[in-house]
Amino acid sequence: QHYTAEDITKMANDENVEFICLMFTDINGIIKNVEVPVSQLDKVLANKITFDGSSIDGFTRIEESDMLLHPDLSTWLIFPWGEEHGKVARLICDIYETDGVTPFAGDPRVNLKRIVKKMQKMGYTNFNIGPEPEFFLFNTDEHGKPTLHLNDDGSYFDFSPADLGVNVRKDIVLGLEKMGFEVEASHHEVAPGQQEIDFKYEDAVSAADSIETFKLVVKTIARKHGLYATFMPKPVQGINGSGMHINMSLFKGDDNIFDTTDDMLSDTAKKFMSGLLKHARALTAVNNPTVNSYKRLVPGFEAPTYVAWSSKNRSPLIRVPAATGKSKRIEMRSVDPTTNPYLAIACILDAGLDGIQSNYDLMPEVKDNIYEMSEEKRREEGIIDLPSTLHNALKALRKDEYVQQSLGKDLTNSLFAAKNAEWARYQQTVSQWERDTYMTQY
Ligand code: ADP
Ligand code: MG
Ligand code: MG
Ligand code: MG
Ligand code: MG
Repeated sequence: QHYTAEDITKMANDENVEFICLMFTDINGIIKNVEVPVSQLDKVLANKITFDGSSIDGFTRIEESDMLLHPDLSTWLIFPWGEEHGKVARLICDIYETDGVTPFAGDPRVNLKRIVKKMQKMGYTNFNIGPEPEFFLFNTDEHGKPTLHLNDDGSYFDFSPADLGVNVRKDIVLGLEKMGFEVEASHHEVAPGQQEIDFKYEDAVSAADSIETFKLVVKTIARKHGLYATFMPKPVQGINGSGMHINMSLFKGDDNIFDTTDDMLSDTAKKFMSGLLKHARALTAVNNPTVNSYKRLVPGFEAPTYVAWSSKNRSPLIRVPAATGKSKRIEMRSVDPTTNPYLAIACILDAGLDGIQSNYDLMPEVKDNIYEMSEEKRREEGIIDLPSTLHNALKALRKDEYVQQSLGKDLTNSLFAAKNAEWARYQQTVSQWERDTYMTQY
């Protein structure tokens, strides 16, 4: 939706909006929010609201820390909750430097726009993204903190009626629809307490905006039901984790460039995919950025562990679904919902563009179940592993200068700073597992 500043002022008046949330994300994809009363709307629309960037993860700038918020007017919407304290609307913002004219390269949304521009220069108009976010619903304790009780695990002695999961999901879907989401499907996932809600594909920046908004809506509405929604990839050992498959295609106007009449995928799609495979290990650091991400990427739980592609089965990193026309797409199955979607989509798109511009050999399609292949067979077929830990993924990113430039210098530096520290904290933690295993053995 395209809005002018006058449209926004009129809608704020007509709807009696009292507060405006100015949203952006930090390096971790956590939503940051500057809330201003509606009396400040003129200042908002004049791109005059500042905030102190030095207190935001990944925004640290020593000398000039005051940064400007440039709201993207097309993101205007009113939250479907909180009316008892006055209606709240939100605008997603790009971050600008103090001069007011230079977009801040360390802003993940600004960076995604940079890669989208590169794509447009190559003659494509849209990078369409359809995400499949999964999450778990846990019961909460008397303080509202999440417990380890999944809300619909029958083996627990819960007070909740058996259909609580259905009701909260319906409420979430209704809330999303009120906010303009086109929800395509919502269903219970494989694991107890696990849900998936799919919404229709959109162009890169809108899709990233929607993923961030989605997480906020799910958490807010779950809380109203006395539940805690988490996007942590593997909250419970021994059952499936939560991923966020990314479906993608390149369009020129109305034409899906990945589609073709005489083959499974167009040449461009194959080249795009060759770029994804080429950079797959480094991309993992961005798409699976937490210690816990790697507890999902293990064999046996429908998550990929090898760099390969297939149209026949769901074990490899990339699947080509049996779809045609506008729905022709490829699906990257490693991504999980702890990723910052602006970073993930920028790096995925840029890796694909590299594939289009370079002449990498596309490995043959894998038709057998990779988990059942011997190591020799995998080696023969040129199938390598995805990184098995955050540490290994960061090492792969360190070796891949192309993906580093997809992030740009600022974001690369802040990603390494944040994630190396996270790994060090984890690596130095002595766990109960270690005590159970070694204390009495030695
Ligand atoms: P799966 O079979 O993997 O469970 P789903 O049906 O749950 O797939 O989700 C498919 C997703 O792919 C939806 O978000 C849908 O909008 C999206 N999608 C469909 N066509 C395209 C396309 N051309 N480009 C990108 N995404 C697409
Ligand atoms: Mg977030
Ligand atoms: Mg699905
Ligand atoms: Mg799923
Ligand atoms: Mg899927």
